[in-house]
Amino acid sequence: MDFFAGFDTLPSQLMFKELEIVYSRIVAAGLEINMTRGLPSVAQLELAGSFLSLPGATNFVSRNAIDWRNYGCLQGLPELRELVAEPLLGLPAEQVAVGENSSLALMHETLAYAFIHGLRASPQPWRKEPVIKFLCPVPGYDRHFAMCDEFRIEMLPVPMLATGPDMDTVEKLVACDPAIKGMWCVPKYSNPSGAVYCSDTVARLAKMPTAAKDFVLFWDNAYAVHHLTEDEVPNQPIARLCEAAGHVDRPLVFASTSKIVLPGAGLAFFGSSPTNLVWWLKHRASKTIGPDKVNQLRHLLFFANSAGLTAHMKKHRVLLAPKFEALEAGLSQGLGNMEQVAWTRPKGGYFVSLDLPEGCASRAVELALNAGVALTQAGATHPRGIDYRDTTIRLAPTYLDLETLGIATQVLVVCVMLAIAQNGGSQNSVHGHGMV
Ligand code: PLP
Repeated sequence: MDFFAGFDTLPSQLMFKELEIVYSRIVAAGLEINMTRGLPSVAQLELAGSFLSLPGATNFVSRNAIDWRNYGCLQGLPELRELVAEPLLGLPAEQVAVGENSSLALMHETLAYAFIHGLRASPQPWRKEPVIKFLCPVPGYDRHFAMCDEFRIEMLPVPMLATGPDMDTVEKLVACDPAIKGMWCVPKYSNPSGAVYCSDTVARLAKMPTAAKDFVLFWDNAYAVHHLTEDEVPNQPIARLCEAAGHVDRPLVFASTSKIVLPGAGLAFFGSSPTNLVWWLKHRASKTIGPDKVNQLRHLLFFANSAGLTAHMKKHRVLLAPKFEALEAGLSQGLGNMEQVAWTRPKGGYFVSLDLPEGCASRAVELALNAGVALTQAGATHPRGIDYRDTTIRLAPTYLDLETLGIATQVLVVCVMLAIAQNGGSQNSVHGHGMV
């Protein structure tokens, strides 16, 4: 599909009228492309093919004579914890518990324990506080924000930089407001910018003084092993740094195998200080006798060891990296010379964050939707779905095949240019072509 047929200039050099012609061709094509969410592609799901026939008739006997077929073992099989603790959470196996299939569910559950009972250092259960506030780096993950909404947690946006959250702002806010009890952190290959917290940011998060005695970091390590390049970013030693700074209970670490095996059929993990883990398991004991150990054994047999996990993630990378490269190439070609348009080039994770001139993001998303390409809703990257400057769009290239992604990228480019032109931003945004 070549929507630009007959125009021999680069897309970014088209005049407004030409853009409108291209856009009407796109609309006429009747596309139906959905790139709203970061789903693994079908080819990625197929990497877990043999996973479905495990554990089979195995004579596996767990350490300490735990019968994996029966009730119990609230913390999870030790062998499985040893396999995942370091690569997925950067913690020792003793400080990790295995949950069910969703790390988001474990975050929700942990918030519920804090509200019902309070954390170890809480003066009282969070439900008794007049207001609870969380710092939310933006752009960030909409499901974190939805969880805050659910618990009536007031969200305080903090700018996300290439090095992680703006630490000057973070330090200033947490130092003086005891109602700020927590902060969302996706430290590696963040959703949606792909940013990696630098070591200085992590050190400052670990040691910053906070007015709330029970301040915690919800450390969502969702993309721990989801590298897109050879330059594999290691886990940051948040737990060790917090302990060294006298804040051993500060990090609550979460991860899962959702985007490693099959979303919905993976395993989720919680890790923290030894005392936090005891606190967490004590409350968890009131809701379950034990998680699904059959699935734990399935994982154990599927990966065998941490080298097996690494090898498996390389297969994901082979499928994913070309998509990110294609998106990058399409954006560079189409939008590369436009001022105030910028996007991230992640080394891992599932997303790219695209920034447009102020006031253009929702119009670009609307134009794309009308042309048959559903993008993540503009604003979704901000608390309560409101991006006041209307600049950010999250791009999710993982699910589409390369050809469809190429079409979607062309549509995106045209919609971005049209949105900017319609917004009257031509003088600053489009070089020397006098668009509207
Ligand atoms: N955390 C982040 C930052 C994510 O991007 C996602 C999925 O996109 C999740 C958590 C979902 O994790 P899970 O499937 O373990 O609930």
